[in-house]
Amino acid sequence: MDPDLEPPPPWPALHRAEHTAALLRLADWVSGAAADLLALAVPVDCVCCGAEDRTLCAPCGSRIRQLTREPFRAESGAPALMDVDGTIMLPVVAAGVYRDELAQGLLSFKRHGQHQLGINLGRALAVAVRAAARGSSGFLLVPVPTGTAAYVNRGFSPVHLLLKEAARQLPGLDVADVLDKKPRVRLEGPKALGGQKGLGGQKGLGRGARSQRVRGSMQVKSRARTKVLGRPCIIVDDVLTTGATIGEAARALHLAGAQVRGAVVLAATRPPAAADPGTPAACPHGRSHDLEKNKPGKDE
Ligand SMILES: [Zn+2]
Repeated sequence: MDPDLEPPPPWPALHRAEHTAALLRLADWVSGAAADLLALAVPVDCVCCGAEDRTLCAPCGSRIRQLTREPFRAESGAPALMDVDGTIMLPVVAAGVYRDELAQGLLSFKRHGQHQLGINLGRALAVAVRAAARGSSGFLLVPVPTGTAAYVNRGFSPVHLLLKEAARQLPGLDVADVLDKKPRVRLEGPKALGGQKGLGGQKGLGRGARSQRVRGSMQVKSRARTKVLGRPCIIVDDVLTTGATIGEAARALHLAGAQVRGAVVLAATRPPAAADPGTPAACPHGRSHDLEKNKPGKDE
């Protein structure tokens, strides 16, 4: 069906031993039980439906599992990852479409980093990683870096937390936090970095211009260059919209000599191209869009 992810021999490293699976289930159960105990002491509302339960109630948790059951190829909905003639520049596997409980859960996790949500979303990400990795081995999973300001505001990086949880579900994966955001370049004098034009404030610019602005904003950490040189890499991010961010991560890795094989995201704002017209699109009522753009949409 697509040339990049060919029919694969099963990847042995992903075959989890029975006892590991049992341990993971036990760990999840313990953390669930702890959440239950906590909920008795401090009432918590489900971030998706508002029911007074856990951070994520059981029905909403199972909805997230349903929404991420079949990872799909998502790059065709991301203009920055497609050439004008329709050639795929970078294949992306998404766990699900950014809508409903998946969008609500992810949005809440990005704000607060709730542990229990992280387990559920990390599990969904793991399913997508497994799908993307089919047939390959020895690759690095590279998280997209969080901007410094976002990190300072939140105190954590959602992508890194999710990937950590996914890696726990898929032992044997090599997570390599090798990308950095470059400090913003101020274009104010002859000493402003040469060749880094266009990184200044450009509010109100269109999609193409925004993509331009992201360009050059990431780099491989200097001490990690030898680690990525010649290594196959898969980029990991939370949400795929235009693809500009993932495209920039790919550019930075490529520049450092890595072989970028593709990317994995938890959610893509557009559904798979071949989706049944009857299935709800990414923005059936403008909902997904609103969720993403109007962050304070849900009360907290
Ligand atoms: Zn719920």
